[in-house]
Amino acid sequence: MKFYRIEEDKAPRYTGNLDAGHKWGLPGVEPCPRCDAGGGVVGLQYPCVDLSSLPERKKYDDPRPVPFEEFVCLRELVRPLVPQGAVLEPGTRFGPLEGKGSGYFGQLFMQNPWSLYVRREALERLRGVGVRSLQGCPINVRFRVKHPPELLALQLALKGKYHPDCLPPDLKPPCPTCGNDPFDRPDPMILDAASLPEGLDVFRLRQAWTVIIASERMVDAVQRMELDGVIFRELEAR
Ligand SMILES: [Zn+2]
Repeated sequence: MKFYRIEEDKAPRYTGNLDAGHKWGLPGVEPCPRCDAGGGVVGLQYPCVDLSSLPERKKYDDPRPVPFEEFVCLRELVRPLVPQGAVLEPGTRFGPLEGKGSGYFGQLFMQNPWSLYVRREALERLRGVGVRSLQGCPINVRFRVKHPPELLALQLALKGKYHPDCLPPDLKPPCPTCGNDPFDRPDPMILDAASLPEGLDVFRLRQAWTVIIASERMVDAVQRMELDGVIFRELEAR
């Protein structure tokens, strides 16, 4: 099985833009006393997770950094509402995208490298030919046109690692206090074939969740149906 990185098709006809954000999020954290890392991550999002039943939901409106212990409390309150094994870092976003949209969208659409949307009809066609792990959630975005596109936000699991051959040999272990695990994104990236999931056709890389990966099965289906809006770049796996 081959694996591909999904990227936006930058052709000028794709003018689509979502000026919008997710409804809730975990706050950032104040600098760690051990490693001095703080703030929050970008690109980790669970658009199908609904926090509206949480009595403390108002606490997920405020991205301002909090002490690490407070972050842990907020994180554990949402744990029962997220998929099993979900990665929950400071700055993780939840819930439907809210805001405004405009322009022309392909059948698939990326607002940025870490956010993938699929038109409902395309998602149903892909499912119909056996493409797995397509969990699409409605968005709450207003379009000023008569027939707005019905875009669904994909909620993606985090799976797969880099192959050690593309990482520096002196890689430091994560911070034992806060779990911060800083390293520069390898270029070119090589995937660890044994770590890649067999049952998923689209997912985020566990070590770099801003990278969205599609299986050969998904890529074949998209190309056969001539679904547009994204391109696929093959990644080496060993
Ligand atoms: Zn730390």
